[in-house]
Amino acid sequence: MVNSLPSYLGRLAPSPTGHLHLGHARTFWIAAERARAGGGELLLRNDDLDALRFRLDFVAAMIEDLRWLGFTWREPVVTQSSRMPRYRAVLEQLHAARLIFPCTRTRRDVLEAIGAPHEGGADDEPVYPPQFRPPADAPLPPLGDKATVNWRFRVPDGEEIAFTDGRFGPQRATAGRDFGDFLVWRKDDVPSYQLSCAVDDAELGITEVVRGADLIRSTFRQLLLIRALGRAAPAYYHAPLMLDDRGERLAKRHDALSLRTLRAQGVTPAEIIAKFAAETT
Ligand code: GLU
Repeated sequence: MVNSLPSYLGRLAPSPTGHLHLGHARTFWIAAERARAGGGELLLRNDDLDALRFRLDFVAAMIEDLRWLGFTWREPVVTQSSRMPRYRAVLEQLHAARLIFPCTRTRRDVLEAIGAPHEGGADDEPVYPPQFRPPADAPLPPLGDKATVNWRFRVPDGEEIAFTDGRFGPQRATAGRDFGDFLVWRKDDVPSYQLSCAVDDAELGITEVVRGADLIRSTFRQLLLIRALGRAAPAYYHAPLMLDDRGERLAKRHDALSLRTLRAQGVTPAEIIAKFAAETT
């Protein structure tokens, strides 16, 4: 008899660059609820590739906070920094398919060339100016053993990319207009979030990605990468972002709402979960 795969595999993918806050907890709770409803389970992915902001104590803290809230996941934890050979293999595959190009422009060059603040917000990449892109038939320099320049994915200009979000319904974006050639590998020889996330979601058998609505635009990029790898894309469910009482997005700097702070104030996991559950009914 063949063992059947779980019908649903989701993931929690925190970055150990700060303490988790109530907004993370709500998104993860939604992920856990969807996994439960789908009769499946979750992976915990430690997105530890941001060397500048990474701290080992944040890894331990996030695991402890998630356990405190009662989340469970399939062991072992997937640590992105231990998957570098996989990401590199994908970079080589994209290079062989001529889907990427080297880029020596700075973020400032890009912002000056587009001459306007871009829509996506500070976390998102501005649309890469087409005049900076080398012609498609230009000779492609070798990757070298270590990247010393940024590498970008050449998006199919004018193509509409669409998916149906589990929460927000049909989503579409036009490549080259709503988002441009995006970073896949950085000059400090680290994969971008888009590449590592797309590779992991596709290769680890994730059936549904549940994450914050700020990442909807990233989904279009990740869908292009997953397609380039010849893999099946997961389903996506973007959770509405939690706002503070001034209507601003909760960010890690709002330490007052970190799970650690709430816990120190005597708030219980049951109270937190009850609040989330009450909001969604
Ligand atoms: N580590 C990423 C973040 O915290 C994960 C995003 C995702 O779920 O794809 O923003």
